[in-house]
Amino acid sequence: MNTSPSSVDNALVPESSHCEEHVDFVRWALAQLGISYAEDADGARFSLDEADREVFEGQSELRLAWRSAPTGSSWEPIDVQSRFGHWLLEKLRSAGPAVPTQPRFQPAAVNDVASKLLAAYRVDGGQVHLGGCQLEDFPFLRLSFAASEKGRPSVRHVFVAHDGSSVSDDLALNLGLLELEPIHKSQPRIDHITINTLLAAGRRIAAKKSSVRDPSATVAEPLVAAIVWVKHVSGKLLFTVGGTTIEHPFSGWAKLIEAQPYVSKTSGASSFHLGATDDGRIDAVDQIVPCECSGRRVLVQELVTCCVTGRHVLEEFTELCPVSGRPALSDEFAICPMCRQRVSQSVWQEKGCDACRQLTKIRANDPRLAWILGEHKGLDRWRRWRLAETQQAYIAQSERLMKRLLIVVDKESLTIRHLATSGKWASLWTPATGTARDELLR
Ligand SMILES: [Zn+2]
Repeated sequence: MNTSPSSVDNALVPESSHCEEHVDFVRWALAQLGISYAEDADGARFSLDEADREVFEGQSELRLAWRSAPTGSSWEPIDVQSRFGHWLLEKLRSAGPAVPTQPRFQPAAVNDVASKLLAAYRVDGGQVHLGGCQLEDFPFLRLSFAASEKGRPSVRHVFVAHDGSSVSDDLALNLGLLELEPIHKSQPRIDHITINTLLAAGRRIAAKKSSVRDPSATVAEPLVAAIVWVKHVSGKLLFTVGGTTIEHPFSGWAKLIEAQPYVSKTSGASSFHLGATDDGRIDAVDQIVPCECSGRRVLVQELVTCCVTGRHVLEEFTELCPVSGRPALSDEFAICPMCRQRVSQSVWQEKGCDACRQLTKIRANDPRLAWILGEHKGLDRWRRWRLAETQQAYIAQSERLMKRLLIVVDKESLTIRHLATSGKWASLWTPATGTARDELLR
């Protein structure tokens, strides 16, 4: 590593949004070295250990000038080229290839994360609790370079993520990489290979950030490297109602983690507010509603709307209306006086169901008529057919002389379900059975 002025002048310093004044860098470095100092607006002072006094002409106390030191005064300038600067960087580097440090503001314990997550959920008739949570330290790298911002000396930082990738400005800010402090408790372990891999990645990223302006330029040497230990959290929440428990895993940077809504595999709904159906399935509360027939609490997707009453009920209490094709409560059905089919009240009328009242003229070569006549030859004597279809049947009406004929034919088997006749102007139909039926069909 090189701290000579030429490193700034001849080699390019990587582009970065993360700059700080020397004074802030020195504050961080002193804290890292465990040197306590008294500070006022002009500077700081601290006692020197015996071993360090030689560098500073035997002084026992050092007075650092935060800004420019008056000439001839006993104030030490703090820029990286000064004797204090050299001494400080040497001290930092003596601990190893990278100084261990950590964001000043990040969750330190499982509880800090868990309490925030747990508070985000509500479980009606049940509870949410932690089913496991681990905090893990991930090493990020910070390379610091001597730079100059608007003519003033400064320190510029380049950050590298644990996987060797570049760290976006937003992520660096959000993870708290711009405000670092010493690690108070035991430091996470890191091997030389990992450090060297990160350093190599850092140099590549720094070179890339430098070559933006001049691809042939040499990259400046970093002043110091630091490993920033960033806490990552993973675990799962458990939602319990009665005897049912479901899991909701979470994972992310401890400082950034936010509660995520639970997404139900059954309903697909996402929510922070959960409940359970009467049969014990946990889902978003807004997906759980009572069946208006039985009162059972079920998923809204399991209900159908009765086309007669508009009530939302379980399918088991309904039947499909053959005319409308829609479900209706079983006690909302009646027999159509014309076609004798069981139809819902929504299509039933005294003179016949919607299908019977909406027969439309068909041509003699209509395939549906051809199928019916093919099965029942006797019907070929009739003319002027009109027809309607329901879910399971054809309803057809025909005329001949002064009589009318009504047939209801099963769509699948083409068997006659109902056969009736009436006078041309009569309103009532007489079912044809027995020999009358046989004669009509033969
Ligand atoms: Zn009918």
